[in-house]
Amino acid sequence: MRIKAVAVLVTLVGFLTSAPAFAQDLGPQIMKFGDGIYAYVGKNFKSNTGIILTQDGVVLIDSGHDPTDSRAVMDAVKKLTPMPVRFLIDTEPHPDHTTGHFVFSPSATIIAAAGAGESMRNRENQVPDRIAKLAATSPAMKTALEGYKFIPPQVEYSERMTLYVGERTFELRHMKGVHSEADTAIWLPKERVLFSASAFVSEQVNIFRPFVNISDILAAGKMMKALNPEHVVPGHGPPTTTKLFDDGEKYYALLVERVAAKVKEGKSLDDITKEVKMPEYASWASQDRMPTNIDAAYRMVTAKK
Ligand SMILES: [Zn+2]
Repeated sequence: MRIKAVAVLVTLVGFLTSAPAFAQDLGPQIMKFGDGIYAYVGKNFKSNTGIILTQDGVVLIDSGHDPTDSRAVMDAVKKLTPMPVRFLIDTEPHPDHTTGHFVFSPSATIIAAAGAGESMRNRENQVPDRIAKLAATSPAMKTALEGYKFIPPQVEYSERMTLYVGERTFELRHMKGVHSEADTAIWLPKERVLFSASAFVSEQVNIFRPFVNISDILAAGKMMKALNPEHVVPGHGPPTTTKLFDDGEKYYALLVERVAAKVKEGKSLDDITKEVKMPEYASWASQDRMPTNIDAAYRMVTAKK
């Protein structure tokens, strides 16, 4: 009798400690931000993926930079829980966040801000050999792409959306003019974790498309900072805190000040692009994007939005 009781206890303890696995068992790219909340952090500023466990299944945020990352995320999910991925929320429609949809959907329902599907479809039509080229980059990539299917989001929302899954609440905010055609910040109010998308990137110069504005980025930063998150997981770069928004604000203030001084001197955009330097931020990655930043500051200063 006594032996049996001990055996039951050992089995029970074994069961309790094996689920969920500890973050260190999941490889060096997985960080834990509290009970059941993880991020797969992309190497060298490749995109990040949120993995959130709930009592009713898994919610992912983005699908990994490359399909090889998507497969690694799926492996981590399988180690954490036998439950299916129920929802996948896109922070943006660009391929480095969405190519891996096919790894998770079905079972996952994909949710994105309005315009995401159109953005994805346009790119798929404009670059029809994108997947073949990606598969040719390495044998591992070719294997990871097996079964590839173009899958746009099944659900699009316009301004805000609240998703309730199990014990958790996800608040989605559509941020406009900050990076892509459809950017979403995802806020977990009880856990105080924010997935902030790519309006601000950590330790990296951001890219500006013609429809992206510094004023919209700063407004998005204010909105996200006001949520008072404990952890901030950006679309790219190391997870951090609201320091991300403070750093971005300071950077843009200095950039706009320098560009404004040159505009006052009557310089052309070409000259300003050559002359404005930001040595304080020389350590940030992707310095080649600086001309797009100067262009955005010039548009702001000259009010040509
Ligand atoms: Zn992007």
